Amino acid sequence: MYPASFEYFAPSTLDEALSVLERYGDEAKVLAGGQSLIPLMKLRFASPRALVDLNGIDGYDGLYEDNGVLNVGALVRHKACERSDLLRSRYGVLADAAPQISDPIVRNLGTVCGSLAHADPQGDWGSVMLAVGADLEARSSAGTRTIPIEELFQGPFTTSLQENEVITGLKVRDPGPKAAGTYLKLERKVGDYATVGVAAQLSLDGDGAISRAGIALTSVNPVNTKVTAAEQVLVGQVPTDDLIEAASKAAAAAADPRDDVRGSAEWKRQVVRTYARRALHTAVEQARAS
Ligand SMILES: Cc1cc2nc3c(=O)[nH]c(=O)nc-3n(C[C@H](O)[C@H](O)[C@H](O)COP(=O)(O)OP(=O)(O)OC[C@H]3O[C@@H](n4cnc5c(N)ncnc54)[C@H](O)[C@@H]3O)c2cc1C
Repeated sequence: MYPASFEYFAPSTLDEALSVLERYGDEAKVLAGGQSLIPLMKLRFASPRALVDLNGIDGYDGLYEDNGVLNVGALVRHKACERSDLLRSRYGVLADAAPQISDPIVRNLGTVCGSLAHADPQGDWGSVMLAVGADLEARSSAGTRTIPIEELFQGPFTTSLQENEVITGLKVRDPGPKAAGTYLKLERKVGDYATVGVAAQLSLDGDGAISRAGIALTSVNPVNTKVTAAEQVLVGQVPTDDLIEAASKAAAAAADPRDDVRGSAEWKRQVVRTYARRALHTAVEQARAS
């Protein structure tokens, strides 16, 4: 099917983009990689009157560390994360997730921030960012505000972003010197959305105790879910097999999946527990070695 007709804007500055959004209100949509929006338009699940394409605006494709804080610009593609050496150390959870997203075509075009704005509970970046801890910068004609990732997802495909706001980038909070994480994803075949995904990130203090823990789940709840109960089991403790088992059990308890063609709810819950255990063991080993 062809999309309904729309007006296309290709601004070269953010201010121009924001003024179009202001003008069209909820009848306009931001276009980043187009990998979620264009399929929706072709199916006519979305019929915006105006598209505001961000791709001609310079300066928003930076992926860099500044004073221990990782910056991800609005136009950073999945591919850039897949190829980044920077992400392979303290941000392993991002590095591990990126190549598991769909196929090279989607990864070449799709953006991290677009994925967060889309808020698909099957999206991988939502869980990754909930695990590492990130703050989004949202700009509108009225100014700039920070949205902690914990406050972004309001429901399936629903966020706390206003219709006149653009996510210009995000900052991953400094995980400290001894930190590591990973993302484990079960998919029916390569390129699929997750049947189950688990993101885990740990920081260790000088005595080897866990100073910060992040665990988040994909595809097992109506939104990407941060599992605070599992994180609390870990923080302040020196990691042991029993501790990791207790946290994994808490992660499984936070999953409320549905029976579907991919498997039963009970089986998916078991996968969460197994993947959480594996991911936490990997994070501990790598953080100790870092
Ligand atoms: C075949 C296929 C398989 C896929 N598999 C996976 C997968 O396994 N895992 C996964 O996580 N994702 C998957 N995706 C989705 C993909 O990751 C998309 O790239 C992502 O969901 C949206 O990013 P985008 O840049 O393409 O956004 P777009 O499609 O351009 O936009 C998506 C939505 O976000 C809004 N938006 C985009 N950028 C901004 C911004 N900066 N500020 C405010 N609003 C914004 C748009 O208005 C729109 O509502 C798949 C997509 C396809 C087509």
